[in-house]
Amino acid sequence: NVRTRFAPSPTGLLHIGGVRTALFSWAYARKHGGTFVLRIEDTDLERSTPESVQAILDGMQWVGLAHDEGPFYQMQRMDRYREVVQQMLAAGTAYYCYTSKEELDQMRAEMEARGEKARYDRRWRPEPGKTLPEPPAGVKPVVRFRNPVDGVVAWDDAVKGRIEISNTELDDLIIARPDGTPTYNFCVVVDDLDMGITHVLRGDDHVNNTPRQINILSALGGELPVYGHLPMILNPDGSKMSKRKDPVSVVDYEKKGILPEALLNYLARLGWGHGDDEYFTLDQFVEWFDLANVSPSPSRFDHSKLQWINQQHMKAADNSRLATLTAPFLLERGIELQAGPALADVIALLKERVTNLVDLAEQAVYFYRHQAAPAELAEKQLGAEALAILRKLHGALAATDWQAAALNDAIKAFVAAEGVKMGQVGMPLRAAVCGTTQTPSLDLTLTLLGQAETLRRLDKTLT
Ligand code: GLU
Repeated sequence: NVRTRFAPSPTGLLHIGGVRTALFSWAYARKHGGTFVLRIEDTDLERSTPESVQAILDGMQWVGLAHDEGPFYQMQRMDRYREVVQQMLAAGTAYYCYTSKEELDQMRAEMEARGEKARYDRRWRPEPGKTLPEPPAGVKPVVRFRNPVDGVVAWDDAVKGRIEISNTELDDLIIARPDGTPTYNFCVVVDDLDMGITHVLRGDDHVNNTPRQINILSALGGELPVYGHLPMILNPDGSKMSKRKDPVSVVDYEKKGILPEALLNYLARLGWGHGDDEYFTLDQFVEWFDLANVSPSPSRFDHSKLQWINQQHMKAADNSRLATLTAPFLLERGIELQAGPALADVIALLKERVTNLVDLAEQAVYFYRHQAAPAELAEKQLGAEALAILRKLHGALAATDWQAAALNDAIKAFVAAEGVKMGQVGMPLRAAVCGTTQTPSLDLTLTLLGQAETLRRLDKTLT
């Protein structure tokens, strides 16, 4: 029974790298009829905030990756961690260490002076026949894990392949601080064990933690999960993404008018592939997804590809859903939706022409608010001659039955009667009524806008 988890630390917004980790974990569980667990790793009290927890939950909801269990909060599991520390002390797989900070500093200095790698010298580690020092009075000890001293820790990483680390590289890790609080790697192990996690997919910034976690897990008698470490997502130029400078959070993409399914589609393609397929649904992804096709090398974010994928998802999306998603962008622009046609109808007309919801909102504005043509456009399209044509056209339009076909006929007849070119009528008419010449076909645009509103706008331009 497959059980995967997403285990973010709530120290900021939900990061796109995190979303990709969540997506792969979620998809793997879905594909195998398994369970996807959400766990909030909030033990770093200085950096964790409730706002960030909320941002993660909101972000997960927005992308639509639903967890089957959780969210579990590590801070609510403290008693359990303490219990396991006690078990390990009793079993002899962990021990108290009273070494002070000064002693550790001295130890480090001496080892470095000898050209050795600095490490804890295991002075409080019990061994048969070894006499331990007398615990100093009034000192609260840490608890250290009794790491094996020889042999190697090895695992077949589902992404990176076989990884082997010699135990001589690993210290006796502190698993509980003097005040009894458990440390990061230890909590992760206890959680993965208690939650029955079978597949640990996470960023490859954690690859150094894995041998330590494997040793602790083995000491607890746990079965090793499959580990898969996902490579980083880089900026288009190959540099590391920065939280402050680059669009790294899910909210950034929401604000750019990207659809959640498009962001997931794009993130799926970053570091995983299925032939040349670029555009697919989430269901299709679940069917195709396989850890064997996850790439071990970092990928670069390609914003134009994301826009292209978004465009495909916009075309496929239901218009009333797009309307719900676009409305906030119009409200932001001060638009009152009751001042114009149903937004879903506007969207039906515009959606083939745009790549994201922001574009869509921008192009929808003129259906709700008459905006005069900008000076440059007015100069080009609304000169004296054009205005004279529009003045005559006003009468023809006022007498027309307001349906696309009739409107089309009326404009054609007008063009023929006046002996002008279509462009001499269509472009000024667009500029006058829509404030832009970039509109869908005149007949459809004007039918949707309505006769009264079209004539009102023409009047305004002509006076
Ligand atoms: N909490 C860690 C992070 O946000 C993930 C730990 C894990 O997946 O094991 O980077």
